Amino acid sequence: MGKQAKAVVCREWNKPPVVETVEVESPRRNEVMVKIGACGVCHSDLSATNGTIPLPPPLVLGHEAAGTVAEVGEGVTDIAVGDTIVVSWIPMCGKCRYCIEGRPALCDMAAKATVTLPDGTHRFKDKDGKPLNHMAGTGVMAEYATLHRDNVIKIDPSIGIDKAAIVGCAVMTGVGAALNTVHVEPGSSCVVYGAGGVGLNAIQGCAVAGARQIIAVDMADKKLEFARQFGATHVVNPNTDGDAVKKVRELTEGGADYAFECIGLGATITQAWESVRKGGTAVVVGVSKPTETVTLGAFMMPFQEKRLVGSMYGSARPAIDFPRLLDLYKGGRLKLDELVTATYSIDQAQQAFEDLVAGVNARGVIVF
Ligand SMILES: [Zn+2]
Ligand SMILES: [Zn+2]
Repeated sequence: MGKQAKAVVCREWNKPPVVETVEVESPRRNEVMVKIGACGVCHSDLSATNGTIPLPPPLVLGHEAAGTVAEVGEGVTDIAVGDTIVVSWIPMCGKCRYCIEGRPALCDMAAKATVTLPDGTHRFKDKDGKPLNHMAGTGVMAEYATLHRDNVIKIDPSIGIDKAAIVGCAVMTGVGAALNTVHVEPGSSCVVYGAGGVGLNAIQGCAVAGARQIIAVDMADKKLEFARQFGATHVVNPNTDGDAVKKVRELTEGGADYAFECIGLGATITQAWESVRKGGTAVVVGVSKPTETVTLGAFMMPFQEKRLVGSMYGSARPAIDFPRLLDLYKGGRLKLDELVTATYSIDQAQQAFEDLVAGVNARGVIVF
């Protein structure tokens, strides 16, 4: 039996998202319907509303959520009604070469199912009976959502649902960049460009890894305050401190071991590259526009043996990493309570997006 649910929908690029009542179809084979408990408002949701990430509208937003299983489809044997889950926006098919290699963040099937479920069809319909796209193959900024079984990870139900939700994107992406993609070594020096939801988590990922120096670079003092709370040892605001690269080189005596770009701009990717020492690694975490390009000086490349790598979803292996991150939280080593600086009802969704643009929150979360 399908369900009526409120959902946050992007109807047109560059217009505020709207809250509308949609029809959520019951789960088909190997699917589950989730009663969403909380959904974070991620910068990627904003990017989907303005075409920076070109997912076609009408699009049910949201990809960072947790909730309880309301219905299970045929063939689902390892998840039951009432289970608490975190949504993973990659489904991990388990069969493609990347899944087999242990790199499910690069799953070929996930790369195809960007606005539908993995079978290429939709589970949302609007009041006129027209299908609505699913943001990142999920679309969970809604009271209910039907997802593939492989997009949900069962977790300990004692964790606050708003905290659990943000593990599904911001925390995984940022902390994973440091712990999974490059395995930051204890005692290393790190710089993080951009102290938004993902950047703060890259900072705390470096802290968990035991970095000795963590430099946060951002143009907003408010975000730099958050950065200190999450483990930054130094902060740089290029508006008042001057050239960030120069500053980072001074602080690190020649360049950082790792630089994380969590903005998605060619110019800051260049800065991240220029901030690392010989043999260091620059990591691109931020998602840019499809047309964005990067300019890097070629001459010094062989002499410096630097590495430039992308980090997709923190190189997530969700079934392993979500419980691991939640254990770090329970053990007091990962800050999640401090990340959720505001909660909203679904009817306040537009406000949540405005606050994201204004940069007032570490993370804003819609709680249902
Ligand atoms: Zn996200
Ligand atoms: Zn796969």
